Amino acid sequence: IARNPGEPEFHQAIYEVMLSLAPIAGERPEYAQWSILKRICEPERQIIFRVPWVTDDGEVRINRGYRVEFNSALGPYKGGLRFHPSVNLSIIKFLGFEQTFKNSLTGMPIGGGKGGSDFDPKGCSNAEIMRFCQSFMTELYRHIGEYTDVPAGDIGVGGRELGYLFGQYKRITNRYESGALTGKGLTWGGSRVRTEATGYGTVFFAQQMLGTRGQSFDGKRVVVSGSGNVAIYAIEKVHQLGGTVIACSDSDGYVVDEAGIDLDLLKDIKEVRRGRLTEYADQRDSARHVSGGSLWDVPCQVALPCATQNELPAAGAKTLLDNGVEMVAEGANMPSTPEAIGLFQEAGILYAPGKASNAGGVATSALEMQQNASRDSWNFEDTEARLEQIMTDIHAVCVATAEEFGHPGDYVVGANLAGYIKVADAMVALGVI
Ligand code: NDP
Repeated sequence: IARNPGEPEFHQAIYEVMLSLAPIAGERPEYAQWSILKRICEPERQIIFRVPWVTDDGEVRINRGYRVEFNSALGPYKGGLRFHPSVNLSIIKFLGFEQTFKNSLTGMPIGGGKGGSDFDPKGCSNAEIMRFCQSFMTELYRHIGEYTDVPAGDIGVGGRELGYLFGQYKRITNRYESGALTGKGLTWGGSRVRTEATGYGTVFFAQQMLGTRGQSFDGKRVVVSGSGNVAIYAIEKVHQLGGTVIACSDSDGYVVDEAGIDLDLLKDIKEVRRGRLTEYADQRDSARHVSGGSLWDVPCQVALPCATQNELPAAGAKTLLDNGVEMVAEGANMPSTPEAIGLFQEAGILYAPGKASNAGGVATSALEMQQNASRDSWNFEDTEARLEQIMTDIHAVCVATAEEFGHPGDYVVGANLAGYIKVADAMVALGVI
């Protein structure tokens, strides 16, 4: 804490992983050596830069850009870029730290990193977004590359932003280096299923969790927070598997639609019109919009937090439990506070941390890198089948590791230990570097 003052999210992420290491300290003390712990908590490189850009009105704006290259023991740094006014070094470091273990869990050869800016895309014109992305990449390009660091999207960075970022990268480097960024569009080197991957993957993982109790999504009442990329495709997969999502949210409030969220309408509002959820309620008789308030007040059997960190506090967890929630699987990164996680575990419900359940996005990014390297493009069905297999494998590894270390059914311990052991092994093998 003294070494990283004013970084509460980073401390929180480290604390959660370190707690899970307790069982390993007794049984496999070589993994709990201070020399590994100290190194694994220190990013290999932290880059902070100025991003100057000009609004449509000619005003000069300055934002701050970040890229934290956390750990490259398993492969090139890999992790998304987030554009949101709340972004600061603490948030990017927590995300990069988590990403290292998540990427390890996927079984793919990728290290961990994360980046972004405190830029707020809300209300910006298309031209302003483009100028911002071009300015951001004018610094970032020198730090990334197929064998070095491969960014992707995250909050506020989707297909449009990645297009402008890739365009500027290509222009500056004079190289069509598809493997330098993932989440690309299908006509310029992207992979099928990448858009859907995090949401679909979360639901595939959750399906495996339900399976351990002889259940499935069929007939389940589900609440999904957020209404962005992860949330939309989590909703789509839940519906395909026979569940009904009856509520979702954005930062202004939430909608409840007892008839089930109309996905075509939601996609039109969020992906095409870039509008707000109030418009959804305006256009659906069965829906009501609640401004502010807590989405977790809506009774459900399954909750999928897919918006942002610390969006599910203890009060929300208590209400969910009082209303009979049976499972919480995280699509977002660190959405449940430590107190909320404690309550879920105490109650004995199924609970999965994001680094396991939302790993489908980065895993499919690694599949995109494979396709780029071989100049190939796979079809939707095969790519989705690979994603489902990867999520099934991650689930199996978490379950087996939790059991091996005496915590059966504890996905936090399973995910943290399985992710950690692989990274630690590689770090030891590569020497003190
Ligand atoms: P998007 O920008 O597409 O959507 C984010 C959603 O969350 C929006 O509905 C947004 O509402 C809401 N939201 C964001 N910040 C807040 C906040 N502070 N309070 C309340 N609501 C908020 O992002 P993604 O769907 O891509 O990402 C969502 C989460 O999933 C993040 O935690 C991200 O790190 C994680 N993730 C994403 C992956 C990906 O492939 N995209 C991969 C793995 C994890 P509004 O529009 O009002 O801001």
